[in-house]
Amino acid sequence: MMKNPHAIPVTEVVQKMNVNPHTGLSTIEARKRRATYGMNRLSEDRTKSAWRIAFEQFLDPIIYVLGVAMILAFAFQEWVEGFAVLAVILLTAMIGFFMELQAVRSVEALQKIAQTVSNTLRQGKIKSIKARFLVPGDIILLQSGDVVPADARIIEHRGLATKEAVLTGESNQIEKSNDVIPLNSILAERKNMLFSGTIIARGYGKAIVTAIGSNTEIGEINRLTQKAKKEHSPLEKRLNKLSRWLILFTLVLAIIITISGYFQGRDLFLMVKIGIALAVAAIPEGLPIVATIALARGMVRLSKQKVIIKKLEAVQTLGETTIVCTDKTGTLTEDKMSVHHIILNDNQWTNRDIKTQCDQIKENDAFKYLIRVAVLCNNYNGEDNLSNGDSIENALVDFAKKIDYNPIEIQNKYPRLAEIPFDTDTKIMATLNRFKNNYIVCVKGAIEQVLSSCKYILGNNGIQPIKNKNQWNEDINKFAATGLRLLAFAYRETNIKPIENELVKDLTFVGCIGFLDPPREDVKQAIQTYKNAGIKVVMITGDHPNTARKIAEEVGLLSINNSEASVIRGSELESYEGKDEEQEKAIMNALVFARMVPSQKLDLVEFYQKHNAVVGMIGDGVNDAPALKKADIGIAMGIRGTEAAKEVSDVILMDDKFTSTELAIRQGRTIYENIRHFVVYLLSCNLAEIIAVSIASLSKLPLPLLPLQILFLNLVTDVFPALALGMGKGDARIMEQPPRHPDEPIISKKLWISTFIYGLSITAVVLGVTIYAHFIKSWSYEVVNNMAFYTLVLAQLINVFNMPNRSFSFFKNAVTTNLWVWIAIALSLLIVVIAYYMPILQTVLSLVKITVEQFIIVCVFGMSSLLLIQLIKRLGGTV
Ligand code: ATP
Repeated sequence: MMKNPHAIPVTEVVQKMNVNPHTGLSTIEARKRRATYGMNRLSEDRTKSAWRIAFEQFLDPIIYVLGVAMILAFAFQEWVEGFAVLAVILLTAMIGFFMELQAVRSVEALQKIAQTVSNTLRQGKIKSIKARFLVPGDIILLQSGDVVPADARIIEHRGLATKEAVLTGESNQIEKSNDVIPLNSILAERKNMLFSGTIIARGYGKAIVTAIGSNTEIGEINRLTQKAKKEHSPLEKRLNKLSRWLILFTLVLAIIITISGYFQGRDLFLMVKIGIALAVAAIPEGLPIVATIALARGMVRLSKQKVIIKKLEAVQTLGETTIVCTDKTGTLTEDKMSVHHIILNDNQWTNRDIKTQCDQIKENDAFKYLIRVAVLCNNYNGEDNLSNGDSIENALVDFAKKIDYNPIEIQNKYPRLAEIPFDTDTKIMATLNRFKNNYIVCVKGAIEQVLSSCKYILGNNGIQPIKNKNQWNEDINKFAATGLRLLAFAYRETNIKPIENELVKDLTFVGCIGFLDPPREDVKQAIQTYKNAGIKVVMITGDHPNTARKIAEEVGLLSINNSEASVIRGSELESYEGKDEEQEKAIMNALVFARMVPSQKLDLVEFYQKHNAVVGMIGDGVNDAPALKKADIGIAMGIRGTEAAKEVSDVILMDDKFTSTELAIRQGRTIYENIRHFVVYLLSCNLAEIIAVSIASLSKLPLPLLPLQILFLNLVTDVFPALALGMGKGDARIMEQPPRHPDEPIISKKLWISTFIYGLSITAVVLGVTIYAHFIKSWSYEVVNNMAFYTLVLAQLINVFNMPNRSFSFFKNAVTTNLWVWIAIALSLLIVVIAYYMPILQTVLSLVKITVEQFIIVCVFGMSSLLLIQLIKRLGGTV
């Protein structure tokens, strides 16, 4: 890598880096350099090793408590218990390890898909290469919207400017050059350099990579600030808190029961053993990993639907989204534009007129100028079109070709001398072209903007001063109200070369073209779904308010009768300060924001957030990046989006479909629901064990569960079905509920009540079977205990079916349709059957043979817990 490349001429840099700037490195050379210099990534981006994941499994309070229980068991020379707890520890860690490893790896794989790519010269060809594969000496080609992938020295450029806020905090654009810069100049002054992580705001540049990875300037900063370790997601934090709280509760309870049992005259050893077992029983194994697993599964599932989630936490935030801000063109509409209407001063033609009266129309003077400006003020340049798929420019070229003009011929006749690129802030594009010894300035853009710079108008009587600007605006409003996207055209001919920053003045207005850009078919349905889900969809567009309104009506965002108040113009939002309550309410209620500039998107996001909304923002341009970053969920388009937009977003829609956002939000909500099911299930099962053993040990009843049986239950009947609940596909009706409040606890008060009722009902049947077998049937102590144990197994396994909300059918809901639940139940039952027949497990678990009658009684009691809970549930007793 190279030191201070800014201070030497670029020819020397190229020489030192040993590369031909016209052909780039060869593949072999690039591979060699990668072996020497490593990958182009920051150290914190390294993948997490399997060892680390394994090690981290043991760094959990749950394992600490289990460890203490194990030590106690060994200290009391209860070898079997000691080893059993050890087995629990190892198994818990193992399940955690495998599930987390898979989750972490799939997340990493998905993150790789979302990595920045860069146009790079290799073997004489321009290739799109993942930024992490770049090596020093690579020749990179950058254009507006790209993220600079490594530190590089500029070789050549055209109007290049960057945004370097990530590096220097400077928010203005930095103009670049390729002059040599003094050695000791500060970073912001090194204008001949491009720095990794900054964004190309405009222009084009060719540069040679001089430093990669942690040797870049941004890498240095990261190293100096020693970025904090990866934080846990809010969901993981909440689950950890819950888990710590439960551990504390368990420990206190275990101590109370042990001591009070001892004072009741029971054997101290037995009470200690029960205390340990209870502690183990109540601990929610699986709780710390369930969030990672559920979120990661959500990510994988979404990636199959072409939605890439870059950060795990984003899945959770998606479920909380209350407002989705979207642009119009290409997201709500097809972005397949065609010329539909031509509006000149003295003439108007529709598409059909042009077909039927083409020759006559082509004779019209104003029409000739319209075509000239449309083709010259256009970045079309032949077959390898560099206008970057700007559909409005493509539509203009297509139109010109259709009526037998040759755009390239016109462009060659009037060579371009300068360009003011289209900017979403100014909403105008201008070019300066030469024709023999004269010059022509061509301008196209939003009607208000173009008109404001016009002094004259071209019509059938030649050029006249323009007097009726307001009339024009009114006429255009009518066209816009039909949903047409409008573009105005103007020009100025002069024989003195104008200076570049005075191009757009004293123009002659030619007219407007209306384009048809139909709404996307599937958007209407998605917007309806959002309405049902209590999520507000807001359109933020640079387009004309009437066009925006019409499209909003067509996609069902606005109702036709009541759309007036819901549209706000950007000019009304200059500042949010000093707005009274009424005005703030109007902004909160508006559904369409038209003629907005990108910086207003950021202000609006902040405004919404101040009003407690969780905002999802869809965007694609380089100017959208701050708003995408600020939003709770930034969503970039995979095809249309610039690298800059993708870089700062949390979600990338690979197919550019608005409807995919709905899939993502649905998934986010489902995951939270799944985690809730998981927690409620696990806690209610654990609660049943604790209460049953506590009541029995504090009364004269035979113990329904022995310590080892409790340990076994925890591994077999709790964890598998619980994890299966965490992997469900979710309720079909999840998008019919309002969004969850971000501060809402995982277990609400109502859910706590439900958890207790489920736990108590299971306890009731376990104690019921104990009493029945002991007092009525007078069966042996072992049989009574075994029957209680099996009843608990059964009651716990079918407890999964109590999880869905009571508004769902008992037979068809998210749990019954979850294949994993059935697999988990089958697996758990199989293990119990194996234990029943396997001598060693019989001994460890103190299992004896039971009769068919006893088996039937177990089934009746076990099943009756489900019946009991469903009865309470359907009568409104639980959620
Ligand atoms: P959205 O933000 O929803 O995608 P949009 O694409 O209409 O909406 P902008 O791209 O900011 O928003 O366009 C705003 C206006 O600028 C358009 O109404 C049009 O008049 C004008 N415009 C669009 N593209 C160009 C272009 N390439 N050259 C000149 N003017 C343009």
